[in-house]
Amino acid sequence: MSQIKLTRRQFFQVTGAGLGTSSMTVMGLANAADPVFKKPNKLEKTTETRSTCPYCSVSCGVLLYSAKDAQGKQKVMHVEGDPDNPVNKGTLCPKGAGLLDMIDSPDRLQFPEVREPGSKEFKRISWEEALTRIAKRMKADRDKNFVAKNADGLTVNRWNTFGMLVSSASNNESGYMTAKILRSMGVVALDTQARI
Ligand code: SF4
Repeated sequence: MSQIKLTRRQFFQVTGAGLGTSSMTVMGLANAADPVFKKPNKLEKTTETRSTCPYCSVSCGVLLYSAKDAQGKQKVMHVEGDPDNPVNKGTLCPKGAGLLDMIDSPDRLQFPEVREPGSKEFKRISWEEALTRIAKRMKADRDKNFVAKNADGLTVNRWNTFGMLVSSASNNESGYMTAKILRSMGVVALDTQARI
């Protein structure tokens, strides 16, 4: 029987490469497109949905795995980095890796709420009511505070008593529309959570 002869250096190269590959797979870093990749059993009956981590402007791609809970409600039960996303290639920072805690948090805001003047409590309102209230207040404030010209008579068209903080995870189109609409109204204070 023929024997394969390896130098000490070749031995470590071969075993190191094999060890590295298996460790990567264990840590979840192997590409899902790899033919040796096998979906873990606990995810086999789940629905996979692509999404974006909402925490910061890096906007890492995430895979949300959901299944029906005991009450028949679809529930996210596992989150991991999207290996096909060019931004993070399957990795997540500790905040992103803990997304499930945010999804399940009892403090998570899931619908519009308002605290009326003098009240200590927030109450739930519909999106239609929320948007109507916001639009009415924006118009009243702009009518009152819009500055067309400065003290030197120069046209400035600015509305300095209103500001908007938008999501850094918005896509190009919604970001473009938001900036165009707000700038056309004279809004100067426009920023995103990317700088927080
Ligand atoms: S996973 Fe981390 S780095 Fe990526 S978007 Fe979320 S918070 Fe930012």
